[in-house]
Order: sequence, then C-alpha cells, then structure tokens
Amino acid sequence: MYLKSTPGGAGPSAADATATDRQALLAGVARLGRMWLERIPAADPQREHLIRMGILAESLMKTGDRSPAAMTTARMLLCANCRHLDAAPKECAGQALDRCPLLRASGP
Ligand SMILES: [Zn+2]
Repeated sequence: MYLKSTPGGAGPSAADATATDRQALLAGVARLGRMWLERIPAADPQREHLIRMGILAESLMKTGDRSPAAMTTARMLLCANCRHLDAAPKECAGQALDRCPLLRASGP
C-alpha cells in the first residue's frame, strides 16, 4: 500500500479535512463575515476587510478551490478580522479553520 505524500508540506489539519468539510468551513467564513458586517458601524473601515473576506470565501466555494493555500488565505483573513473585532479573544490562536472555535460554534 502506497500513501501519497503531499508535496509542499501542507499541514496535517489541512490534509485531514474532506472536501465537504472545507465547503462548510468556507460557508462558515462567509456567514461570519455577514454577521460581523451587521454588527459594526457603517463607517468602520474594518467593513472593507469583512467584505473582502466574504468575497474570497464565496469565490472559493464557486471555483471549488480547496487547496491548502486557499484554505490558509481564508483562515488568515478570518483571524485578522476576528482579532480586530475581538470576536474570540481567548480562543483564537490562529489555528486552522477546522479547529477555529468561531466556525465550530456557528456551524450546524
Ligand atoms: Zn482565528
């Protein structure tokens, strides 16, 4: 039995998530973006980052890009926004999306 090794050194958590899980994680990122947009003032410059995060998550869902690089980009945008908004001050440690407490809490 031969196990395919992934070139490029993808992290173990990224390799563990199935395509369906990743689709759900991206949907969760888009949903959090919309939720946060409703909570912050209309003039908050952070809106631009939230909108960008939503656009990225939705375009990844459309194109079907589930590469570790795509998931990492989505995670970095989510964490940057989450920290700025202080959404999970004690729980966010920049972990992978499948271990993000915000996505777990908001998921089904
Ligand atoms: Zn985070």
